[in-house]
Amino acid sequence: MNGPSTTPFKEPIVSDPQNPPVHDLVVLGGGSGGYAAALRAAELGLSVALVERDKVGGTCLHRGCIPTKALLHAAELADAARESSRFGVNAHLESVDMAGVNKYKDGVVARLHKGLQGLISSRKITYLEGEGRLVAPDTVQVGSTRVTGRSVLLATGSNSRSLPGLTIGGRIITSDQALGLDRVPEKVIVLGGGVIGVEFASVWRSFGAEVTIVEALDRLVPMEEAACSKALERAFRRRGIAFRTGVRFSQAEQSSHDVAVTLENGQTLRADLLLVAVGRGPNTAGFGYEQVGIAMDRGFVLADERLRTNVPGVFAVGDIVPGMQLAHRGFAQGIFVAEELAGLSPVPLVESGIPRVTYCEPEVASVGLTEAAARKQHGDDGVQTVEYNLGGNGKSQILGTTGFVKLVRQKDGPVVGVHMVGSRVGELIGESQLIVNWEAFPEEVAQLIHAHPTQNEALGEAHLALAGKPLHTHG
Ligand SMILES: Cc1cc2nc3c(=O)[nH]c(=O)nc-3n(C[C@H](O)[C@H](O)[C@H](O)COP(=O)(O)OP(=O)(O)OC[C@H]3O[C@@H](n4cnc5c(N)ncnc54)[C@H](O)[C@@H]3O)c2cc1C
Repeated sequence: MNGPSTTPFKEPIVSDPQNPPVHDLVVLGGGSGGYAAALRAAELGLSVALVERDKVGGTCLHRGCIPTKALLHAAELADAARESSRFGVNAHLESVDMAGVNKYKDGVVARLHKGLQGLISSRKITYLEGEGRLVAPDTVQVGSTRVTGRSVLLATGSNSRSLPGLTIGGRIITSDQALGLDRVPEKVIVLGGGVIGVEFASVWRSFGAEVTIVEALDRLVPMEEAACSKALERAFRRRGIAFRTGVRFSQAEQSSHDVAVTLENGQTLRADLLLVAVGRGPNTAGFGYEQVGIAMDRGFVLADERLRTNVPGVFAVGDIVPGMQLAHRGFAQGIFVAEELAGLSPVPLVESGIPRVTYCEPEVASVGLTEAAARKQHGDDGVQTVEYNLGGNGKSQILGTTGFVKLVRQKDGPVVGVHMVGSRVGELIGESQLIVNWEAFPEEVAQLIHAHPTQNEALGEAHLALAGKPLHTHG
């Protein structure tokens, strides 16, 4: 890696190793968490240095959220063409040209990257390109340059994990390589039925591949409400996506023509590719954190609710902090730290109030507590639920999707959880997170008017039902 550099920005400030400038904030890592902190801190008038070894935007922009959602959009178009006769339109899906799909995907990423670079430079953030290392609580070393700050923010993100005995290479890939494939595989095995696994399974199936998911836990998207997993499994079955749940991976062997995956039950599956999607681990090794005395747990940086590490002046955000690994959590945490340093005393984030969307087809979206978690918190008699079937929702019928909206309410109290499955329900999470985070009562939401015909109406209808005045709900 280089030292501070030839950056893509207009006026790179190269600090003098003999006389390093003291910034208000030095940010190590320019992904969702790091760049959000840098932008907000600069906006608040703090002087900021941002250290990034690759491209500002991090995993989300270059290897995560954005490119995968571009693939999922292309997949939706392929499905629309394939299924068009259902709607009386006789289109024909001739082929999927991965060069064209990748060009479209890379174009989206490049435009957003350029915009982000422009934001960083317009806010006069000192940008240092190169791998940074924490050499003192207030100092990051980049090549031969040391940059110091009154506060330092660690935001070095995460990497794809693998399993013991499973070496990434050749036909065994992670999401990083999956995003760059120049062809649609004929047969794929996806190891891991979590968010990343089911999203790629969905894309490849839409593009025409034969897909099998292997998940060690007893259901797909196991972090979600059990009813959502069941509905997703039903939908995947209908789409011809095979899955084996409750079974563990044993070993994989690749040859010139395929990869053989053996499961602990003795079964062997064969495919062109094996996608390893078994979660992401913190990217913290070798950056000096332990040497400076930062408290860590299995590679994660421990931070309190104000995102302070145990070392005064050092904060941490994003995927390196235990919790949900989501870009918008990183953004919110980054903004929090910037506002904290500017003396605005922001309110700490509530982890369960962070919205979650799995963007496969159909989508799964949720915010707040699952029914099981709510029962644990409020007791079995302290919780009420309602499930509104999308069968009663006009727009969902028009789209040809099935699914539901499930609400979890503290008895006689606010809505504490919203859980949804169905095409495009990710778009309903905005209203859902307002409801949960503003602790709205079903009776209050039931008074609000939802435009007809929209899928948002399903949220309104579910609240009408929970408020005891169901409209389009069958007994
Ligand atoms: C396939 C995939 C799909 C995803 N889809 C979604 C989604 O739809 N929605 C969602 O919310 N989340 C999604 N995520 C998760 C999301 O990408 C992460 O939660 C988010 O990027 C975390 O942000 P971060 O700032 O913690 O880390 P990162 O984005 O990983 O950024 C860390 C940055 O630090 C840099 N860096 C690391 N070490 C150093 C060092 N020593 N010196 C200098 N720079 C360094 C890296 O180059 C990187 O740019 C997805 C992830 C993947 C892999």
